[in-house]
Amino acid sequence: MRITRYAATLAAFGVVLTGCASEAGNQAQQEAEETTAEVEEVEFEPGSTMAEIVEAGELRVGTKIDQPGFGLANTAGDPEGFDVEMAKFIAAKMGLTEDQITFTETVSANREPFLQNGQVDMVVATYTINDTRKQVVDFAGPYYEAGQDIMVAAGNPEKIEGPEDLAGKSVCSVEGSTPAENIRTNYPEAELVLYDAYSKCADDLRNGNVDAVTTDNVILTGFVAGDPEAFELVGNPFTKEPYGIGLPKGQDDFRDFINDVLEESFEDGTWAEAWDKTAGAITNTEAPEPPKVDRY
Ligand code: GLU
Repeated sequence: MRITRYAATLAAFGVVLTGCASEAGNQAQQEAEETTAEVEEVEFEPGSTMAEIVEAGELRVGTKIDQPGFGLANTAGDPEGFDVEMAKFIAAKMGLTEDQITFTETVSANREPFLQNGQVDMVVATYTINDTRKQVVDFAGPYYEAGQDIMVAAGNPEKIEGPEDLAGKSVCSVEGSTPAENIRTNYPEAELVLYDAYSKCADDLRNGNVDAVTTDNVILTGFVAGDPEAFELVGNPFTKEPYGIGLPKGQDDFRDFINDVLEESFEDGTWAEAWDKTAGAITNTEAPEPPKVDRY
């Protein structure tokens, strides 16, 4: 593999976002910011997954578009967030520019099918690595570790401090997600309300239609930051949700390549920079220690 480097400075200007789910992103991204992505000129082994993607001239990425900090569409329809930055790292190391990334919305329930049907090359979408999913897709990473938590109305009128307190309460989550599955299996006395996307749960909590919303803490933190008058995080994570980059099963060359890209970004500080300008900017938090990549 021959690698020559050249730097491309890409200016990305923040835009004003609209809608409830976008408020947090709005606050953090209103100001113009500049992104420096180092696009590499690379040659991959003919026949490799990377060579095929480069040959197609397009990296097709499934991501969320309603989760402030990780994947949130701006007014132009382009997603922004920490997950989106991971996809940009990978594209740049393949010699592809940001214009050559095609983002497609994936919700929690269609991530495996999108990979299995070949509709996308990868999914970067707050996607927990677990053994059930590994039966049908593969994962590079993890690149972040979240934990399931609960969001309640500001002031916590129902006094919900953890999942045990959800008995007899209505709690909203998303079909096809690990938090929904956890409630269904381990807290059956909770009344589970399911949608396809978390922004709909946040709307229901705001309108008083449900008592709580449950999913990963970082997703909930994004919603709280966008509307602190309405929402509050319980702040008591009760699972481990290691985020991986979902890939079609069996593409070991691509998985190895992405794991290398992730490790490099952990070491050279670009991963932490990506955090600072996305999820970190919204929630006012420092980048954590990067997790250890699992090359299973
Ligand atoms: N990380 C969890 C999952 O992969 C919840 C977040 C989501 O639904 O994207 O299911």
